[in-house]
Amino acid sequence: MSIAYLNGSWQPIDEARVSVLDRGFMFGDGVYEVIPVYQGKTFAEDQHLARLANSLNELHITMPMAQDAWRELFAEAIVRGGEDEAVLYVQVTRGVATTRTHIYETSEPTVLVTATKRAVRKISDQYRMVTKQDFRWGRGDLKVISLAANSLLKNEALSEGYDDAILIRDGKVTEASSSNIFVIKDGVIATPVADNFLLHGVTRGQVMALAQKHGMPLEERDVDEQELLAADEVWITSTSMEVWPVVSINGLAVGNGESGLLYQKMYQLFQELKHQSESGSVT
Ligand code: PMP
Repeated sequence: MSIAYLNGSWQPIDEARVSVLDRGFMFGDGVYEVIPVYQGKTFAEDQHLARLANSLNELHITMPMAQDAWRELFAEAIVRGGEDEAVLYVQVTRGVATTRTHIYETSEPTVLVTATKRAVRKISDQYRMVTKQDFRWGRGDLKVISLAANSLLKNEALSEGYDDAILIRDGKVTEASSSNIFVIKDGVIATPVADNFLLHGVTRGQVMALAQKHGMPLEERDVDEQELLAADEVWITSTSMEVWPVVSINGLAVGNGESGLLYQKMYQLFQELKHQSESGSVT
């Protein structure tokens, strides 16, 4: 069952309601997190809570509850949702205003947590991407709920017959519409620097830590578009996709057009991490 916690009360997800004056609805003025649940336990909860705290802090939205209260809420959501393989969606907005104005009022943040069954990954293992200009705002590091630009880019890619867009800013790769990018050449794994133009993905961090732990050469640096197009392997990472291979970009095969050997190794390492570690930290 999909369940929602909204400002202190629990209800079926399709019955939860917020005011039209909620600044999340009016302005997209809020932040979110997506936390995976494997075998009835959250994975990488600390990292997601830390990013939530940072997003809220940068937007000057009050942190609505302490870390322990979040943890208890997540545990209750898992039990109430009744699914061992689930996804927790957490959304905090600046709250309900009295009138529609850009100026902040002092308001209680709106807090939503939902627990839903984890969807079986239906994505093709023939994942095809297209490069597009990254025209989004300069704070891609904040996990804000206003995803109009990301949605537009994704839907443009779909309408052109691709699965997703890889975003390019000033000739350099930033990320994809809802995932981070890794580019592999001659056995070296590279990923763009986690600056203000891209989300500092939790899965990205885990994949980097796994590479380091297992002696796979890793570089965090600028990756230009030409390098992306000449790569032996390209991977995307996100909470929902975990780590996934890209087989073509702009209609041209990546490597031999199939998932690569390093991908297969990283996929295995990630599956082991998921099932061994409750914290999601590579130790
Ligand atoms: N970039 C963007 C734009 C995203 O929306 C996401 C999450 N869906 C990611 C990267 C990956 O982040 P994470 O690994 O924390 O899910």
